[in-house]
Amino acid sequence: MPRSVSRVSYGGRGGDLHVVTITPNAAHAKGHGTPAAERGPVVVVTANVHGDECTGTGAVIRLLPLLESELLRGAVHLYPSLNPDGLERRVRRVPEDDQDLNRQFPGDPTGTPAERLAHAAWTDLSARQPHLLIDLHADAPGALPYALVDRAVSLKSEARSNIEAVSLAAATASGLTVMHDYPDDRYLRFRLDRSLSGAALNRLRVPAVTVEAGPRLVLDTEAVDVTVRAVLGMLTHLGMLDAPAPPHAQRISDGPWRRDNGPRASTTGLLLPRARAGVRLERGAVVAEVRGFSGALLEEVRADSPGFVLAPAERSHVVAGVSVCTWATAEPS
Ligand SMILES: [Zn+2]
Repeated sequence: MPRSVSRVSYGGRGGDLHVVTITPNAAHAKGHGTPAAERGPVVVVTANVHGDECTGTGAVIRLLPLLESELLRGAVHLYPSLNPDGLERRVRRVPEDDQDLNRQFPGDPTGTPAERLAHAAWTDLSARQPHLLIDLHADAPGALPYALVDRAVSLKSEARSNIEAVSLAAATASGLTVMHDYPDDRYLRFRLDRSLSGAALNRLRVPAVTVEAGPRLVLDTEAVDVTVRAVLGMLTHLGMLDAPAPPHAQRISDGPWRRDNGPRASTTGLLLPRARAGVRLERGAVVAEVRGFSGALLEEVRADSPGFVLAPAERSHVVAGVSVCTWATAEPS
């Protein structure tokens, strides 16, 4: 049976979580030595942990028939939505308690609704003993699609560099621009070790990659395509099928790069972006401008390090002290 569906009960009003498992079909596995062909890497693909980010849900739906016909080895467990109530309400957080599900892992069976949901998802996916976790997200309109690697902050030096290197190699196989996450101090301050990918890396010691593509709230066909190719590329990297990801047209391949806060406005007014995502800029280059309603230029906001805009801010009005974009800066090696 190449496709099987199971359900995870979490007490949400939207019903259960769905998990679809794809294993190689018998005809395809012929010559690959059934049943040994079913052995091989186990990969978990999760989507829509943020309820307003549906690119990954669309990608999972597209991946199911592709994997059914193309998977050669191993097993892929796909979770089309980890936050179905958020998807239905078009909100990022868990509607019942307005918490960010992606800061709750591994969750708590006796905690808040978001903690219980995190616990239910975590218990199910960790029991599947994955070799890689791929978590699918969306970012802002106009953002560069990218593959993000977490910080294994809880591990000692050699274990840390090993698991980060394995994650990095998988991320590179996505064909997307590869980003490291915020530096350790902010990574911990933002509780990113309790995101799904961060907890996979730090608690389960499972390599993890987060894919960010497309805008929130709408199913952007191009972003779904980009995400599907990225996942197929990573599975190919693990020897599970043969569909290497071509480099994305906007891929920035030198690096390493890391995600950072963009420069902050020091005035309040209309925010007009001046730099497109993925265009390389020197320190001091204008990233955005702030104008008043009379059209007067109040401020040019300039890059404080060489790099590029990863994602424009999802706002057209900015308040003094607020960052005007997500920035990509060089990762010290
Ligand atoms: Zn997200």
